[in-house]
Amino acid sequence: MLLAPVEYYRPDTIDEALEALQTDGARPLAGGQSLISILKLRATTVDLLVDISRLDDLRSISVADDGSVTIGAGVTYDEMAMSPDLHHAYPGLSTIAAHTVDAQVRNRGTFGGNLCHNDPINNFPPFVVAVDAVMHATGANGSRDIPAGEFFTGYFTNALTDDELLTSVTLPPLNGRSIGYQEIEIGEAAARAVAIVAMSNGSIESASVALGCLPIPVRRPAVESALAGADSTPEAVAEATAAAGDGIEPVSDADASADYRRAMAPVVAKRAVLEAIQGGHHG
Ligand SMILES: Cc1cc2nc3c(=O)[nH]c(=O)nc-3n(C[C@H](O)[C@H](O)[C@H](O)COP(=O)(O)OP(=O)(O)OC[C@H]3O[C@@H](n4cnc5c(N)ncnc54)[C@H](O)[C@@H]3O)c2cc1C
Repeated sequence: MLLAPVEYYRPDTIDEALEALQTDGARPLAGGQSLISILKLRATTVDLLVDISRLDDLRSISVADDGSVTIGAGVTYDEMAMSPDLHHAYPGLSTIAAHTVDAQVRNRGTFGGNLCHNDPINNFPPFVVAVDAVMHATGANGSRDIPAGEFFTGYFTNALTDDELLTSVTLPPLNGRSIGYQEIEIGEAAARAVAIVAMSNGSIESASVALGCLPIPVRRPAVESALAGADSTPEAVAEATAAAGDGIEPVSDADASADYRRAMAPVVAKRAVLEAIQGGHHG
């Protein structure tokens, strides 16, 4: 189906974009890889598309002296995949970006669009939750920081107000921790886990574990507690991650049932932790 008639505006500055977003029915357009399809399907209506894809202020990747990384919301997956700075500071993230979907989407799709859209199949929401990233937003009433754990509010929704933009995301330093990222690909994805693991003398010192393929990506505190101090053997990791699916509320769709997703949560959590232990992606 063709796009319904819609106004289009491409601002030169963030301030101009924010002013335009004050208009009723206005919505940011980034890479358009989700929004344009949704509009064509008539699943939502928009009166004014505010094209933020060429705002230079949203398009940089910077690494601070402490190893933290700030990624502009408008940085494309391709730019993430090809950034030597990101690869050095967060090798796992560049690898995920490099393997997301296909070349066409990677060329247009943006980190911020992926996070704001919060499709449960999207790769990056559980990642930012696992690393405790900070989301930087700005709107007519000023700027604010939102912890990643509070950014995702439900199926395709986030904590931004209609007149706010996500401008960038700061990932804390990895400080030698390793990243594991595992998914079960049925359709787009049926289950996904991200693990960030610190080792000490051959045992697990600490771990954070987040699950994706959910309306809201979640951390698994009970699993994290069980992993802290555990042996790094497959048996010990399997035991510590066994309860990863407890209490989660996945959706049933054409790709997988909720029960299957719940059953696969411990499987991907265990594999992600073991991947991190066995080298994973070091920062
Ligand atoms: C066929 C196909 C398969 C895909 N498969 C996957 C997959 O397996 N894994 C994966 O991770 N991704 C996948 N994607 C991409 C994924 O759907 C992303 O959600 C998409 O790329 C969104 O990024 P975008 O820059 O194109 O955003 P857009 O489509 O332009 O915008 C998406 C939404 O976010 C809002 N938005 C965008 N930027 C901002 C901002 N800075 N501040 C506030 N709101 C904002 C928009 O208003 C809109 O509501 C796929 C895409 C396609 C087309």
